[in-house]
Order: sequence, then C-alpha cells, then structure tokens
Amino acid sequence: MADPQIPVLIAGGGPVGLTLAVELGRRGVECTLVEKRDGKITVPRMSQVSTRNMEYCRRWGIAEKVRSAVWTNTHTLDFVYLTSMTGKEIARLRVPSYQDRGPLTYTPEGPCHCPQIYYDPILAELAKSFPSVTVRYNTELTSLKDDGGIIHACLTNSGSGEKETTTARFLVGCDGPNGVVRKSLGIELDGTGGLANSVNIFFRSAELATLHDKGWARFYRCIDDGGSWGEMIAIDGRELWRLTIYDHTDGDIDADGYLRRLAGCDFPYEILSVQAWERRDFCAKNLRKGNVFIAGDAAHEVSPTGGLGMHTGVNEAVNLAWKLSAIIEGWGGLTLLDSYEAECLPQAAFNVNISTRSFHRITELPPSQALSDVFPDDKEAVDAKLWSLTIPDFIKVQFTYENSPVCVPDGTKANPNDAENMKQSARPGSRAPHGWLKTGEALFDQFGRDFTLLQFAEADAGGLLAAAKEIGLPVDLSRINDEDLAAIYELPLVLVRPDGHVAWRGGQSPADAASVINTVRGIAAV
Ligand SMILES: Cc1cc2nc3c(=O)[nH]c(=O)nc-3n(C[C@H](O)[C@H](O)[C@H](O)COP(=O)(O)OP(=O)(O)OC[C@H]3O[C@@H](n4cnc5c(N)ncnc54)[C@H](O)[C@@H]3O)c2cc1C
Repeated sequence: MADPQIPVLIAGGGPVGLTLAVELGRRGVECTLVEKRDGKITVPRMSQVSTRNMEYCRRWGIAEKVRSAVWTNTHTLDFVYLTSMTGKEIARLRVPSYQDRGPLTYTPEGPCHCPQIYYDPILAELAKSFPSVTVRYNTELTSLKDDGGIIHACLTNSGSGEKETTTARFLVGCDGPNGVVRKSLGIELDGTGGLANSVNIFFRSAELATLHDKGWARFYRCIDDGGSWGEMIAIDGRELWRLTIYDHTDGDIDADGYLRRLAGCDFPYEILSVQAWERRDFCAKNLRKGNVFIAGDAAHEVSPTGGLGMHTGVNEAVNLAWKLSAIIEGWGGLTLLDSYEAECLPQAAFNVNISTRSFHRITELPPSQALSDVFPDDKEAVDAKLWSLTIPDFIKVQFTYENSPVCVPDGTKANPNDAENMKQSARPGSRAPHGWLKTGEALFDQFGRDFTLLQFAEADAGGLLAAAKEIGLPVDLSRINDEDLAAIYELPLVLVRPDGHVAWRGGQSPADAASVINTVRGIAAV
C-alpha cells in the first residue's frame, strides 16, 4: 500500500481545526487543513476565550494579542441583570476589568473577551506561520473512506466544484455540527436535543452606550414583565453588539421590536445580521473510529450559556495533537489514540450537561415583578444567586482525566468539591496546577513543548529520565525551588504531559520506570 499523501488531514477551519493545526505546526508535523468557506468570518458566535484556552494562547505567544484585540483594559466584564437598558438595574455580578483583576491564584491568564471575528483570524495567522501547516480555503471535504488505515478523502472546490482525491494517515473532523465526518462514521449522538429556537441580532450603534446609566459591562441580561428573554453582549466595547433571544417561538422575527424591548426606547442602530439557530444539547457517543477522529462542535453541541463550546473543543484539539504527533514521530503507542476518547468524552458530556442546566436556570428566572424572591435585599444572597447562574471559571481549568489509560493513578481520590474550594490538584490526570515562581514568572512558562519532569526537591529523577531517554520519550527536567509550589504538587517528582496534564507523580523515580514511561506513551498498562 502506498504511503498516504498527508500525515494529518483536518476538515474545518473554525477555532478547533485551527488549534489542531497550530499544535501540530509547533511540533513540525505536516498537516493540511481544508475549510469550505473563504476564511472570512463576519458573525461573532464565541465571545469569551476561556481561562484554559487563554493558557494555551500564552504558550503560543498570542495571549496579549488576544487580550488587547478589542476589549480595553478598563471596561469591567460585569453581568448586569436589568429590565431594559434604560430601565431598572435588577442585580449585578461584578467581574473586574483586566486592569483591576490583578494576578489570579489559579491561572497565569484569566478569561478574555475576544469574539470570534477577532479571535479566529489571530489563530489562522498563527497556524499559517508554521512551515508544516497548509491551509486551503474554499475546499470542502465531501466524502471519506477508511481503507484499513489509509483515509481516502474527496475534496471539492467550493467555487468551481472541481474534485480531487487525496489520502491521509489520520483525519480529524473539526467540521462543526453539520459536518460530514461524524455522519460518515455513523457515530450517534446522545443528549436531550433541541433546547430552544434562539436568535442572534448583530447590530451597530455608537449611541446605545450613551442612552443609559449602567456603564460598560460584558453581558446585559434582560428580565422584564415577560420574563427572562435575552442577553446582549458588547462585542467591541464601542459600537458593535449582539443581542441573543433565548427562545423565539411565534412567527417572523421582529428584530426592530426586540431591539426596542432591549433598550426600553427607540434608538439609532444598523442591523448587520439576524440569525436564527437551534440551541441544542448533544454529545457524540464516540470521538473516534479507526484513524478518523472528531473534535469540537462536530462532536458536541453545547448551549453557549457559560462559554464552554469552543473551550471544550480546543481542549480536545490540544489533547489529540500531541498524541497524533507521538505516533507520527514514532515514540507513541496505539493506546494514546484510545485515550483521546477515554479522556475527552466524559469532559464533553459534563460540559454539555452543565451548560444546559445553566441555560434552564437563567431562562426560568421569574418575570421582573416577582424577582424580589430571587434577588432579596441582601447583597450576599444576591451575589450567591448570581454566581449560581454562571459556570465558575475554575471549572474550566481544574478538570481531570479520570480513569485515563495513559495516566498512572497514585491512589489519591478526587475531591468532589474541587470547584467550590478552588483547590488546584496535581493528581494524575489533572491539569497541572498553576503557581507564580519567586521570580514572578509563571510555572507554566517552564513547561516545554514535550513532557516536563518537575523536580521540587532533591528526589532522584535519574531512573525516570534514563528510561525516557532509552525509549525515546522526549522529556525536559525542570528543577523548581519553591516550597509553596511543592506543597500544591504534594510529591517531589511530577511528570507533566505536552498538553499540561499530569501523567504521573511520585516521591522518587519508580523502580519500574520503563513501565511508567510505556504507560504514558500509550504502549502498555501499568
Ligand atoms: C451565540 C453563541 C455564543 C457562543 N459563545 C461562546 C463563548 O463565549 N465561548 C466558547 O468557548 N464558545 C462559545 N460558543 C461556541 C463556539 O462558537 C463553538 O463551540 C465553536 O465555534 C466551535 O468551533 P469548531 O471549530 O468546532 O466549529 P465551527 O466554528 O462551527 O467551525 C467549523 C468549520 O468547519 C467548516 N466546515 C464544515 N464542513 C466542512 C467540510 N465538509 N469541509 C471543510 N470545512 C467544513 C465550516 O465552514 C466551519 O468554518 C458560542 C456559540 C454560539 C452559537
């Protein structure tokens, strides 16, 4: 059988496909990304880059670019609950501006407001900067066939209709909810299905910000005598806005009527687009069949309440990229490929679930006349209620790949209250905890592109390093002289994977170091 023409073919140039291309590109792995559209993105869906996704941006060197792309340092990121922009403020969840939030304890980066119309182009520019990455726009994957390890893909030029076939060793469908890859694989969906008929109204109005006394916030949620009906996001912090109607049930969409209801009066605006979309709760039953994988919205549809859609997909792309690279470079075993689904599917199902719950909590808020029961005259109670309506940022960093076949358990139990306690954990499977070094640098900045063995004391790292070298697993040793960080990590030797999750930890190099190395590279179970 002839060698495949492309090591990794990526279908879809949204944020998830682009992330995969970036992660493969920085490892020098050859890949081709095909995107059926022309690469221009005019409608913002995603608006918040999650904390974990910002941590990736940091390691790609684009965090500052993303942070300053559109939102000023001084605007707050508050959630304001109001009857209308010119009506009564019901409650406010205070989320400080970048300038005021200061360093965070659990991450070197906080969440960031950077809507997709600004974020995707930054990511695309980065992906295209790697010599091993080819990005082809106006190229649609129209069919695929897995021929015992080689994928035959038919690509069609979206303009001319001209067809070509190519072969790939791996194919990753990052082609969104209606993509061809999941359907071709026959992978079924779990989930409750359609939640609501939502509508996005994207509009321009420089005047809107001057109409009211609520100041700059990221979210304005509207609850009037008709109930909790929609929310508006400030897209550029100046004149671009997106109003989302949670559930439009009757007849034609009266965009002007909705904008008047939002403002509480007439005001000047220009409508840029009106898009009806079905808010859905779905998660694929599998993320892989043979050498074909799915990631992002191709694998799950998450209610955007809580900002977990892109977050989940980008984590998947980062999880998968180093595993494909390990196989292509020759030091990874096939269990790595199985581990993608074992690690990412439970996370995806969890995120779909909490997003749906959050959507129901927001839409079930009573009409404004009855809100005093929900938001009583007690600031603490109101704050607690407001936080319960959001998904805590901490959940988006401290997630653990439980029961992973490529992490070595250390016998410690998961703390079910991790999110509430904001307690970072270095249990194998967890995202490695953040900490600031005494020099002011972030520990994460010490992590290399491959595995990193953190050594917090004079524990013997020799056996593990020797086994890794012998087997060909790329690992860098990083000595950390910091008692506070050592306490967070609990044990003096911690092996961190290329995706920043803990693979193994111990008091010293294990007697069976080769077996540990083989497990984490997907060769054999411990
Ligand atoms: C209103 C709204 C607000 C949101 N807010 C947030 C938020 O704040 N934070 C967050 O994390 N997420 C948010 N999301 C979710 C986020 O937008 C999606 O999860 C994210 O865009 C998914 O990225 P993706 O790359 O998987 O898919 P997509 O962005 O859908 O990209 C898929 C790409 O594949 C291309 N494609 C499709 N089929 C083919 C084919 N056969 N061949 C080649 N190309 C193909 C498409 O043209 C498209 O460009 C929001 C979503 C909505 C609707």
